Amino acid sequence: MSRVYNFSAGPAVLPEEVLKEAAEEMLDYRGTGMSVMEMSHRSKAYETIIKEAEADLRDLLNIPDNYKVLFLQGGASQQFAMIPMNLMKNKVADYIVTGQWAKKAYQEAGMYGKANKIASSEDKTFSYIPDLSNLEISEDADYVYICENNTIYGTKFKELPDTKGKPLVSDVSSCFLSEPMDVTKYGMIYGGVQKNIGPAGVVICIIREDLITEDVLPGTPTMLRYKIHADNESLYNTPPAYGIYICGKVFKWIKKMGGLQAMKEYNEKKAKVLYDFLDSSKLFKGTVVPKDRSLMNVPFVTGNDELDAKFVKEAKAAGFENLKGHRSVGGMRASIYNAMPIEGVEKLVEFMKKFEEENA
Ligand SMILES: *Cc1c(COP(=O)(O)O)cnc(C)c1O
Repeated sequence: MSRVYNFSAGPAVLPEEVLKEAAEEMLDYRGTGMSVMEMSHRSKAYETIIKEAEADLRDLLNIPDNYKVLFLQGGASQQFAMIPMNLMKNKVADYIVTGQWAKKAYQEAGMYGKANKIASSEDKTFSYIPDLSNLEISEDADYVYICENNTIYGTKFKELPDTKGKPLVSDVSSCFLSEPMDVTKYGMIYGGVQKNIGPAGVVICIIREDLITEDVLPGTPTMLRYKIHADNESLYNTPPAYGIYICGKVFKWIKKMGGLQAMKEYNEKKAKVLYDFLDSSKLFKGTVVPKDRSLMNVPFVTGNDELDAKFVKEAKAAGFENLKGHRSVGGMRASIYNAMPIEGVEKLVEFMKKFEEENA
């Protein structure tokens, strides 16, 4: 068996320890004589799995009691519709558009009500976070929406916008559990788990209770109502049971690693190795305004498409997978999520140095 350094933006690298444990439990989960995949979601064993996963997540993020935690399906993209369907009571919401995912969410919301683009960084290919000092929050906005870490462009909100009292809704798919968060600053936090937590197919929503009501847009399907899932503790129907089980293992792994503060310090150390090199390199350069750089997704270019392609190809041959940038931006992107060991980043930088010498 040989494992590569996987720099994929998602589905992405998971802790090896978690994968091994899941492998050991594959045929017989703790004496039940079956895999978690084969188990009733109403069984005692599964109840323990989902309850422990929620408790560990609450512990890690310090989630207050007046927030519900929901394990849902449909990926992050389904939330682009679920959020307006459930939260747009006045049919107005403000969106800060800092990348493709925020833009998709903004466009989707426009199908259900008035979505206002109150700030954007599209003028410079989303390479920065717009000025948040004086946002025109709409008087009757039901919420203000951000995508906190821009997976494709590699920017991150280092501070949150002043929403003037409106609930803040944040897509944290690609920075989930990469550092501590103050949950009380948000009305809702959500993320697809395949970037930093588990297998694709699960989306986790953390929602302040007062935002979960029966008062949803007419025609909202039962399966798309937060209240149904909250009242049934994510077991209204069959949840993505195996995926939640893996998420639970990752939560325990993060706790063992020292929790979110330790994760943040490790992630800063890792990202610094790569950014320091990019800042000193004559060939490679980062594409993001330094103060807005993400710790998770690091896009870079040589400035020459042929050389970029050559780099991606040679890197792959050397065991560094999935470094090709998103199809919408080109160049390269290294996603260095929680489970990417620092050795992976150090070896990538060594490889980049060698490539730079050979192609000077
Ligand atoms: C990947 C990603 C999405 C889309 O996730 P799906 O689960 O594929 O729907 C949305 N937002 C962000 C920030 C992402 O990184």
